[in-house]
Amino acid sequence: MLRVRVILEAQGPLLLGDGLPTGNVQSSRLFIAGSVLRGTLAKAILAPLGLWRHSGYAVRESPPPEPFRRVFLGESPARFGFLYPVRLTGDRAEDCEAFPLPLTAMSCKAHRGFRSDGRHGVFDQLLGRLRRVAGGRNASQGLCPTCKKRLDRMRGFALRQEAGDPSTYRGVKVHPRAFVRVGLNRLTETAEERILYTLEALVPGFAGDGPTPSEGEYAELPLSFVGYWTLSEEQWADLRELLRRYLPAGDGNRYSLRIGSARARGMGRVRLHWVEGQTAFPSLEQRLERFQPRGPDGQPVDPKHLYFALTLRSPLLLYDGLGRPTTRATQEVLAAYASTVPTGLEMLPASVVEQEPWTGWSAAWGLPKPIVPVITAGSVLAFRAPAAEREPVIAFLREVEEEGLGERRAEGWGEVVACDPFHETFDQMNRSGGDQ
Ligand SMILES: [Zn+2]
Repeated sequence: MLRVRVILEAQGPLLLGDGLPTGNVQSSRLFIAGSVLRGTLAKAILAPLGLWRHSGYAVRESPPPEPFRRVFLGESPARFGFLYPVRLTGDRAEDCEAFPLPLTAMSCKAHRGFRSDGRHGVFDQLLGRLRRVAGGRNASQGLCPTCKKRLDRMRGFALRQEAGDPSTYRGVKVHPRAFVRVGLNRLTETAEERILYTLEALVPGFAGDGPTPSEGEYAELPLSFVGYWTLSEEQWADLRELLRRYLPAGDGNRYSLRIGSARARGMGRVRLHWVEGQTAFPSLEQRLERFQPRGPDGQPVDPKHLYFALTLRSPLLLYDGLGRPTTRATQEVLAAYASTVPTGLEMLPASVVEQEPWTGWSAAWGLPKPIVPVITAGSVLAFRAPAAEREPVIAFLREVEEEGLGERRAEGWGEVVACDPFHETFDQMNRSGGDQ
């Protein structure tokens, strides 16, 4: 499997909605869901072939070309991951990874944020929670070491260049800006009199704090989105050829695209490019080793077990044996999605999991997709397995990292990082430096 790092740079306002306005306000999502870019590319390829109608319905009479089917359809289609925001140009975004902060991340209220941003620092609870489950002491007092105020949960997005180096992490600020518009008729895309509504769009140059910057200042705060496509060598060759043939060429190796809603409003202009290869990331074995709860003497607290976690980069949907969405990732539930699951695996109460209702707009149906409760991105599923299960544990973690987990993986759902170095790098008890 190949992982291609994909970068979309905003060229103007973006409305990354889910197609469901609330009253007269339609608000942008702060990231690009996998289905949004996947749908945009599918349309860009099929439309010139006459296989996509203006109404948004895919034409069913004739099948799409073979390379398209290999990439987008079939048994194991390419996975179009979620893209998360960074306040960088497309070029500068090339060497970083963007992600939703894990739900275990904490910071003080008064000076919330990373030390590398000049704030009081980020502290992660997960390893402390694992130490407690393992029978060790969790010495964390939950206070900011600088101002002694209480730590509470930190939300939002971050970027990093090197997963193990806290000085390369930065918080990412992104807020929508309101645009008032005259209503458009949905079918004809012409103005509908007497209807006013508000679009809350993401705008390059606009951070959301303080006054709106002037035109000249916009260039100071670019907005790009970074994420991954995961696909086979063959699918990648097919996809590159399809993009080269059907997308309007931009300059250099960049493609110009329109993405999201309100395209008739002149919104949604982005430029797409990619980088093959990974950012610096420790091996899975190293990550697993560093995840084991240790006492003050550096020895494992519970040598009978291996501890590990899956940190979600995107929403996750798991069904239980009765077909109901569940947040309990038991051995039985996971066995439906992965070929190897360690025997004796336990999901631990150290996990921090949230659910949210998820909807979307199906361009193929011209209808909202059904709402499903998903486990939110940033959730952390913590597990342990008997120490003798080391090989199955590594095989399981490798498989779910490469193949994803759960439902709707082609749309980028279920993208996980195994034993994400974030947790160790910002562990409050980390003596080797951390974010101190
Ligand atoms: Zn503080």
